[in-house]
Amino acid sequence: MKKDIATPVRTKEILEKHGFSFKKSLGQNFLIDPNVLRNIVSHANLTETTGVIEIGPGIGALTEHLARSAGKVVAFEIDGRLLPVLQDTLSPYDNVTILHQDILDADLGQVMEDQFSEYEDVVVVANLPYYITTPIIMKFLLERVPISAMVIMMQKEVADRITALPGTKSYGSLSIAIQYYMDAEVAMIVPKTVFMPQPNVESAVLKLTRKEKVPAEVLNEGFLFEVSRGSFAQRRKTIFNNLQSALPDGKAKKELILQAFERIGIDPGRRGETLTIEEFAALSNALYEDFYISKSRS
Ligand code: SAM
Repeated sequence: MKKDIATPVRTKEILEKHGFSFKKSLGQNFLIDPNVLRNIVSHANLTETTGVIEIGPGIGALTEHLARSAGKVVAFEIDGRLLPVLQDTLSPYDNVTILHQDILDADLGQVMEDQFSEYEDVVVVANLPYYITTPIIMKFLLERVPISAMVIMMQKEVADRITALPGTKSYGSLSIAIQYYMDAEVAMIVPKTVFMPQPNVESAVLKLTRKEKVPAEVLNEGFLFEVSRGSFAQRRKTIFNNLQSALPDGKAKKELILQAFERIGIDPGRRGETLTIEEFAALSNALYEDFYISKSRS
């Protein structure tokens, strides 16, 4: 077997052979450390019956490790210049499919049906392009793609925000949007030196595991995220003040907003960062009732 793609020597060889130059705008920071790759893959608990979706295979560093452990790997790559490279580097593996597509435009429901109907379990494993970390995660969650977990490399600062708990500085609407669906933990912190070229920021691998049940039923998930985003618009302001600006006609409907707080027993003078997901769910349900449901009844 050839040396791992993810060694500095082999990576340089591949880049030279294909005359490849990095595009910063596509978040191209390739992994060059096989130990980090083994570690990432170990967090994904892959078996022959697991299907994997990878985003951004690059020259195939992570893809080959996934192909060795999983039943099948489907990888989305936006940069057409990498297709001949991947055809070359991944030629020893017959369980990899590369799709030349922007992940954000992909019809993931169709991909699940076409590619993974025989697989018990599908997980996402990727060293993400950092410039679209949040849109990628939210696409999988909002489109309800039936994946059981995500093991994803991202900027450490974003991983900290996703895993943050109420009352901490990093806690915000991103923590709520993701923890509503998934349990989130930082699996490892990764130094800049394992990438080529090195990114400007620290990195971390985040493991997201689907919750068996969402923490609270809501009338409208989109509205829950709107309310939580609005509540953190200005972190030093109270949630009541923030919501007056965030909700449609909020200033004119002060009384309606106050009534919602009163009904669910939450002090409108609190700041967004002190509310749990369950409290945000109760608040968004009460506001949704008043702003949208009662209106349509009257
Ligand atoms: N997996 C490789 C590795 O670990 O060495 C490369 C990871 S690199 C951080 C991100 C990869 O995502 C690049 O190959 C880049 O071309 C690709 N990419 C960027 N934007 C993308 C998009 N919208 N859809 C699919 N792939 C994208």
